[in-house]
Amino acid sequence: MTPLMHAACKGQAEICRLLLQLGADVNFNKHECGYTALMFAGLSGNAEITGMILDAGAETDQVNSVGRTAAQMAAFVGQHDCVTMINNFFSGMKLDYYTRPQGLEREPKLPPKLAAPLHKIIMTTNLNPVKMVMLVKESPLLVDVWALEKCYRVMDLLCEQCVKQQDMNEVLAMKMHYISCVLQKCLAFLRQRDDKLDALLRSLLKGRDGDGFPQYQERFIRDCIRKFPYCEATLLQQLVHSIAPVEIGNDPTAFSVLTQALTGQMVLLDSEFCATCGERGAEKRCSFCRMVVYCDQTCQRLHWFTHKKICKALRQRSSPADSPRLRELPDNEDEGCVTEKSPVMEGSPVVEESLVTEESPVAEESVCSLKELHLGPEQGHSSTSIRNVNADADDNDDEQPIMCPAFPADFHF
Ligand SMILES: [Zn+2]
Ligand SMILES: [Zn+2]
Repeated sequence: MTPLMHAACKGQAEICRLLLQLGADVNFNKHECGYTALMFAGLSGNAEITGMILDAGAETDQVNSVGRTAAQMAAFVGQHDCVTMINNFFSGMKLDYYTRPQGLEREPKLPPKLAAPLHKIIMTTNLNPVKMVMLVKESPLLVDVWALEKCYRVMDLLCEQCVKQQDMNEVLAMKMHYISCVLQKCLAFLRQRDDKLDALLRSLLKGRDGDGFPQYQERFIRDCIRKFPYCEATLLQQLVHSIAPVEIGNDPTAFSVLTQALTGQMVLLDSEFCATCGERGAEKRCSFCRMVVYCDQTCQRLHWFTHKKICKALRQRSSPADSPRLRELPDNEDEGCVTEKSPVMEGSPVVEESLVTEESPVAEESVCSLKELHLGPEQGHSSTSIRNVNADADDNDDEQPIMCPAFPADFHF
């Protein structure tokens, strides 16, 4: 083992950084079992070191003496964050290629100032379209028709490159394509509305009547997958196979199938994921229904216009099975403000009525046009419907409030 391997294996980030600065070879693999530094990093479960070694140019497809890659080894020992990181890694240097004029080009395909914000989006492991639109919004440089056009074209080129390179990388190709679709959707909204993508976020979050399921989002993701330009790809076939028979609103959602395929992460416990942006580890709970969690107030505010329609019903449904546990919690002073304000912070201008009743014409239109494009030929398949009616009822009755007891007493979410 090299010193870098030892440091990676023991999770010593500072020593890894020092060794890399001094020029340690990340791809050295004369280890007796063919392990590389990246494999040790993956086994150690240290995401920081894994990222560092990837940034230093580690090859992700090297295999050990029994033919396992670093991602496979990390998966074997349950280090899922490292697996996700390795599977989603895309070197900034590969993107930089497009920031320089190539051949006879007078201008580069990607203006250099857009490289950093675009790279941030490429590296995200949360594929929730809401999160991706939020990332676009976060970078003022990207909230621009011209910039988005450049970016989505580069994403299309990267997708093509992943397919046509010698070892075709379908996973990365699908991810690049998916990001391109999200950017194109941002572009379309930006052209039609000058509200800086707020209408798009609302469309993606808007829940249908009854259960609050975000249909537009589901259809959008299905549509992205369906538009993948290389129809012979095995991954595409698998995705379509998993998603097509599922009626919209049932499990698995297109988002969970896509996430699993692209990042290796299972989206299992709804209670752990932010209801708005899908970020994992969200633990701030709607103080009224206690059935949904959010990262922070920004996420809750974004969601409130649609969540408020089902918040009360969720609260009623959640109470019988889990009342003993729920009672341990302080009953907040939020009684009676269900439909008017978000239960988070009293008096905050969370929801304007206009937000709620205002329908987004663009979104509605798109929903209709997407209806015909729905992936599945068997929308009303009876067996799935029956299975999922039950699943629906179970979901919301029993499992959700697991995290409640740990909730701080004075927390107003
Ligand atoms: Zn969130
Ligand atoms: Zn609620």
